[in-house]
Amino acid sequence: MLHIHWKEKLGRKKGRFFCPVCVEHREYREIRDNEYVGAGFLSFKTSSILKGILCLTCKSRLDHGYLSYSPDDIRRSASPWECQNCGTRNEFTSAGCRSCASLRPDLAEASQRSKPEPRIND
Ligand SMILES: [Zn+2]
Ligand SMILES: [Zn+2]
Repeated sequence: MLHIHWKEKLGRKKGRFFCPVCVEHREYREIRDNEYVGAGFLSFKTSSILKGILCLTCKSRLDHGYLSYSPDDIRRSASPWECQNCGTRNEFTSAGCRSCASLRPDLAEASQRSKPEPRIND
């Protein structure tokens, strides 16, 4: 009988990123979900999914999307923001306005920019 199980592991990959909690450059480790298929005592890793990243300084679990944001994007997103639609002041932890639910402008912009350019010759 084969059985499949998942285990959360810290990946071997380390690197530096700009931590939005520390608001500094920090070391991170990948948090991965590994899938194992086993029969009896033997088990083999069959796949591995990147789940997020761990800041080694503040131990925050963060979305791996932070690896692709620039320090400026993150610095701006780590301060309270004002809704352009209704003027409500919102905490930096909320991605949308608590009054009118508009998406915060800087994050909307950053996600636009990180999209790959459309290629014409392909
Ligand atoms: Zn941190
Ligand atoms: Zn609003």
